[in-house]
Parts: sequence; C-alpha cells; structure tokens
Amino acid sequence: MDSCIFCRIASGEIPVEFVHETEHTVVFNDRNPQAPVHLLIIPRSHISNVNDVTQDNQSIAGEILLSAGQAAAKLGVAESGYRLVINTNRDAGQEVFHIHAHLFAGRRLKWPPC
Ligand code: 5GP
Ligand code: ZN
Repeated sequence: MDSCIFCRIASGEIPVEFVHETEHTVVFNDRNPQAPVHLLIIPRSHISNVNDVTQDNQSIAGEILLSAGQAAAKLGVAESGYRLVINTNRDAGQEVFHIHAHLFAGRRLKWPPC
C-alpha cells in the first residue's frame, strides 16, 4: 500500500517518533491532538477498517488493545483513564483508511461522545 500514509509511517518511510511498539503495532502522537494525550495505535500491516477484520487477521484486534494498554501505562494515564475510538467509514468520519485506534487521555472526556 504505497499510497497509504499509515503504511508509510509504520514502515519508517515517513519518520515519526513511536511512543510504543509491539511486534505487529506502532503507536505515535496524532498530529492534530484533541486531548492532552492523543495517540494512534496502528497495525504494521494494512487493514482498511473494522469491516475488513476477518477470521484470518483477527489477532491484530487483540494486539491493538494490548498495545494501547501498554502505551497508556507507559504514558502514566492507565489509572486516571483513557478512551479508545475506532472510526469506521463515512458516518464515523474515518479519514485514514488504515485501521487505527485513537487513545484520548489527560482530561475528563465528555460522554456521550456524539
Ligand atoms: P480518523 O478520522 O481516520 O479516525 O483519524 C485519522 C487521524 O489521523 C486524525 O486524527 C489525524 O489528525 C491523524 N493523522 C492523519 N495523518 C497523519 C499523519 O501524517 N501523522 C500523524 N501523526 N497523524 C495523522
Ligand atoms: Zn496502510
């Protein structure tokens, strides 16, 4: 996926500081943060969104959660709390079609979010 910005970030072609890495994921700061902590957790391999999670690649979903929890602990927000969001397609406002979880933390987050 040469044209996919998150594939290029994950491969290191576009230099971005990773705040956390696992075998199959990388974690970095969102360029347009919506909270004091706003991370993106992405798989190294290309999956467009949750609609493309299958029996064959479902293990990446668990690793995204594992990586998110580890990143939250590393940044010291695991106890205070955080929110994970995965946008899928138009009505959710998905802009980058490489599956990613947003991790928001560092302030009280409003609920409901919509
Ligand atoms: P989506 O709406 O697809 O769930 O969110 C995409 C997110 O990726 C947005 O919050 C946007 O700010 C972030 N983003 C898009 N391109 C880049 C980039 O090149 N670098 C970083 N760090 N964040 C990006
Ligand atoms: Zn991609």
